[in-house]
Amino acid sequence: MSDNKILEYIWLDGYQPEPSLRSKIKVTNDDSAPNWSFDGSSTQQAEGGSSDCILIPVQTYKGPLFSDSLIMCEVQNGDHDVHPSNTRAAATSIVSDEWWFGFEQEYFFTGDNGEPLGWEDGAPRAQGDYYCGVGAGNVEGRDISEAHLEACLEAGIELTGTNAEVALGQWEYQCFGKGIKAADDLWVSRYLLYKIAEDFGVGVNIHPKPKTGDWNGSGMHTNFSNEEMRTAGSEDLYNSLCDKLGQVHKEGIALYGSDNNMRLTGLHETQSIEKFSYGVSDRGASIRIPIYTVENNWNGYLEDRRPASNADPYKIINHIVSTLK
Ligand code: MG
Repeated sequence: MSDNKILEYIWLDGYQPEPSLRSKIKVTNDDSAPNWSFDGSSTQQAEGGSSDCILIPVQTYKGPLFSDSLIMCEVQNGDHDVHPSNTRAAATSIVSDEWWFGFEQEYFFTGDNGEPLGWEDGAPRAQGDYYCGVGAGNVEGRDISEAHLEACLEAGIELTGTNAEVALGQWEYQCFGKGIKAADDLWVSRYLLYKIAEDFGVGVNIHPKPKTGDWNGSGMHTNFSNEEMRTAGSEDLYNSLCDKLGQVHKEGIALYGSDNNMRLTGLHETQSIEKFSYGVSDRGASIRIPIYTVENNWNGYLEDRRPASNADPYKIINHIVSTLK
């Protein structure tokens, strides 16, 4: 009997403004995942003359599909320096496990022609019936969303829920985690989403505004808290945290995903990208103070509603924690 294990190495490439996910398979009888390498000249991470980049395993998941394990990696240059595309390295040194994050990842499933599922013959009837909808004509892609949820849970990624979203073919899942693993989990959950949708012959579009006009865009609302916010909060504390984030609003927006100006218009449950505001229960604000937090004697969390669906979670958590700690 062979001791061989199938390991699926996953990393982020060098594409801009946001990286794409890459993966390849290693068959090994090593007990732990060894460092590995890849051709960086094919991923915008190296020149052809010196093309080797190094994969450093940083987080391991049980493989819910084909492989035994999913291995999330950081990328280093051939000389073992942190690669410029490696946004995780900086976040790791800032974000401790005291910080908890809940990402609300929104996205569209797309069909053969690149249009959202259900849009193949043109725009569907106006928004209204689709959010948390049920029944043919009201929802598209549910089987894929359910397969994705099961796979994430089996991998050890804590999805806390899913729902059909406001536009037809649009979905959301919520992904909870602590410290840097929260962002690792979000990237690996995206990886599994692409891969499972691939099995159905379906694409995934995480652009923040795939359809202009009176259609919701896709965001990645980021809920966050630290120990003090959870257990020793006050109205003053929460206001001061929001004010601090407001002072670096422009810097935050620059890190919160490209084309986010198409989504943050002040309509469709968003605040304008030019403005910063916060408020209790306010879904038109940049940051929402949940009613849960207020009713819990100002112990709870905040929701940053600005990040786009295509944002790099390593950049988001680095910005929030380095601003507030
Ligand atoms: Mg949503």
